[in-house]
Amino acid sequence: MKKILILIAMGIMVSCSLKSQNDINMNAQKKTSDFEIQKSEEEWKKELDPVQYKILREKGTEYAFSGEYFNHKEKGTYLCAGCGNELFESDSKYDSGCGWPSFFEPMENTKILEFEDKSAGMVRTEIVCNKCGGHLGHVFPDGPKPTGLRYCVNSASLKFVTKENDSDDKDKKEKK
Ligand code: FE
Repeated sequence: MKKILILIAMGIMVSCSLKSQNDINMNAQKKTSDFEIQKSEEEWKKELDPVQYKILREKGTEYAFSGEYFNHKEKGTYLCAGCGNELFESDSKYDSGCGWPSFFEPMENTKILEFEDKSAGMVRTEIVCNKCGGHLGHVFPDGPKPTGLRYCVNSASLKFVTKENDSDDKDKKEKK
C-alpha cells in the first residue's frame, strides 16, 4: 500500500513539473537579429556600466544578496536597464529569499522572451528583454500563486522608476 501511495505521489510530482515547464515555455523563441534595438558591442559598452554590460550583454550573474533591488520595496515599475522597456510592476515583486529581485509575472508576457539555457551544468529557462535582447536572469516553476513562476532577475539588468502618481495617492489618502 505504501509503495502504491509513493508511486501516485511521484506521478503527481512529475505531472506538476511538466505542466510548469510547459507554462514557462509558452513564449516563442526569437533570434538575436530579430530584436528591435540593434547596437554594436562598442555602443553597448559606452552606454552601460561594466557590471550592466557583463550581465545584460554577456549573460553574467550578480552575487546573491548583492544587487540594488533584491530587498527593494518601493511602489513603481522596473525597466530594462539596457533600453528602458517596462518589464515588471512592483505589485508582482515578492520576497523569494533567493537574493535576487523576484517577480511572479511580467507586465506583459510578450515583454519577456525565454530561451533554453544549458550552461553551468543545469537546464534553465533564460529570460531576456524582448526589445534589446538583454539578459535579465531566469524563470523557475517555484513561484507563488497565481502564476507559480519566479522570474529571478539581476538588479543590474533593471532600472526602477517610482510611480508618477505616488504622491497624488498619498494626498488622496491623507484627505480621506
Ligand atoms: Fe531591453
